[in-house]
Formats: sequence, structure tokens, C-alpha cells
Amino acid sequence: MTLPEPPPASLRLGIDKAALADNWRALGRLSGAAEAGAAVKADGYGLGVDHVLPALLEAGARQFFVAHWSEVVDLLKHVPGKQVSVLHGIRNADEAAYAKATGTVPVINSLAQAHRWNEAGGGTCHLMIDSGINRLGIAPDEAGDPAIQALRVDTLMSHLASADEDSPLNERQLATFRDVVPWVQARQLSLANSAGIALGADYHFDLTRPGLSLYGGVPRPELAEAIRPVVTVEAAVLQVRNLQPGDVVGYNAVWRAQKPTRAATISLGYADGILRCWAQGGALQHGGDQLPIIGRVSMDMVVVDCGENDLKEGDFCNFPYGLPQAAELSGLSQYELLTLLGKRFLRQS
Ligand SMILES: *Cc1c(COP(=O)(O)O)cnc(C)c1O
Repeated sequence: MTLPEPPPASLRLGIDKAALADNWRALGRLSGAAEAGAAVKADGYGLGVDHVLPALLEAGARQFFVAHWSEVVDLLKHVPGKQVSVLHGIRNADEAAYAKATGTVPVINSLAQAHRWNEAGGGTCHLMIDSGINRLGIAPDEAGDPAIQALRVDTLMSHLASADEDSPLNERQLATFRDVVPWVQARQLSLANSAGIALGADYHFDLTRPGLSLYGGVPRPELAEAIRPVVTVEAAVLQVRNLQPGDVVGYNAVWRAQKPTRAATISLGYADGILRCWAQGGALQHGGDQLPIIGRVSMDMVVVDCGENDLKEGDFCNFPYGLPQAAELSGLSQYELLTLLGKRFLRQS
């Protein structure tokens, strides 16, 4: 039996491909002589690889970063394996075999990973130096180890812990990375994420690895001018009702009407990534009016105060999702705001 197409979704995630492409080009310009790659892990920061990859490719991006091997298959629909780097590296022989079979390039993060890759026959890889974030990467003094020297390193890289702050750690990490460079033969050097690009030319080397700012994130004020918002969120009104003074709304009855109130139930909940923190100060918009969220956020719904707005069943409301402002309002990070976005959105690009 062939099923009919499902009816139109009550939740829409708009992805502005032109803005995404512009952001990549802007980050490329801000990277000076360095080439800009693109971090597309976590399904393109939650937006969907199938939406973001074509736009990034068309803009000119050629080096893509994911974290998991499970993410590779979605990328290979768009690009050859050699353009895909896997940040978590080689955890076992199965992953080494998968890298070989797909031509995907692992980031080697430890001596153990280096041994594993060499034992699998080696081949082009990247090498992560831990310059101070203490997450993944070999220690600087391990660079001379024979297992490291045996690697065929395409990109020698490190990752900044505090590039979004004016922290002395940035310069310390830069100095540590520079100290390691003479020890490892590599085709190219790479240090900066989105925020690192704004730290200036010293941080650019040959390749930058922006993620967040491609998708509209502004981790440092220097990027605010150059970066355009990419994402819009719209949700449908499921019902409208008239509340009387004393009526309560939502789980645990934490909101109570003080006066007659028109309230609308919207198809948007924490399962979609709109977490309960949004109940404090969050609002949707319709026809230029602000519609404050009242009561708890449910799994599939929020209720808003319509005020004077003539909102009716079937209308779509806008949920403002400009990342810097949304982060301020919700207390979530710009990264969380993107990667939380759930599967029920109809993604439109
Ligand atoms: C996620 C990630 C990036 C991208 O960082 P943004 O802050 O999103 O620009 C770059 N490099 C590595 C190693 C990463 O894990």
C-alpha cells in the first residue's frame, strides 16, 4: 500500500540558504588568506545536512567537519569522502575500516588512535593537538612520538576553549600550537572556530573551521555586522479560547487569569526544542503583536496570551529565533538553541 503524502506540517523551520551562503563567504573574507571550512556536525547544527550542504557547497566550501562516523553517510550524498573529516577519530578497528572504505578522513586525537590508524594501514588523516582545552588531542610533547611521526597528516589542528571571550587562554593556546608546528609535517594548519576568526590574522593559519556563525550565531560582537540570521520558526494555532478570571493554564496550573483573556494554544513544545525555560519572558509574534507565553511549556504545545490580536485557529505565529537575542532571553547557548531543534519541523530552504 502506498501512503498519501502527509498533510502540511503545523511547525515550520525556515532556513535561509542565501544568508547561510553569505555567512560562509563573510567568514571566508574575515579569515584573510586562510580558506574557510565548515563544521556541519549534529546534522548541520540541527538544521539538516540536506539543507545546509548544498548551500555551503555552492558558496565554495570544500572541507567539512562532523563528530561521529554515523554522520558520514548523510554527507557522502553531497561530497566525496576526502572532503569529510571526523572529529572523534578512530575508536576501534571498525571505524578505521569504515574510514578507509569511504575515503573519509579521521582526526587522530591520541597516541592510541595513532597506533590504531597506523595498524589499519594508515593513510591521510588529520592530527588534533590539545593546546589547553583538555578534551581531545595529543599533548604537545607527544608530537615527536614515532606513532605520530608515522602519520600522513593533512591538517594539523587545535581547538580554542575561550575564543568567544577576551581570555589570556587564547594567546596561550596560540603559542602552544605554534610550538608544535615544527614537529609535525602537515599540508595545512588550522586553529580557529567561528569566534577564533574574529581574534585576528594570527589565529587564521591555512584553514578556519566555522560552525555556529554559518547558521547565524554571533559568538563575538566583531561578527555581528557580518553575520545574517538564517533560521525562522513558525508554528500553527491549534485552538483559541476565552479565559475567565481565575482560570488556570497548563500543567501544574502555574498561570492564572487575572482578567478575561483570549488565549491560543500553539503547536510548539519542548519536544521541538522549545524548552521550559522559555515560559519566563518568551513570546510569539503575530501581525506585529507580541504574544507572551503563559503557563508551562508542554511537550507539544505552548499557550500564549493573544491580547488584542485577532489570532484564530490555523494562523501561523512567528517564534523569534535570532540567536544572540534568543540566547539572552532563554539562558540557553546559541549552540544549544540550534542543535535542540526537533525532528517535527518541516524544514524549508
Ligand atoms: C564544533 C567545532 C568547530 C566549530 O566551532 P564553532 O564554535 O561552532 O564555530 C570547530 N572545530 C572543532 C574541533 C569543533 O569541534
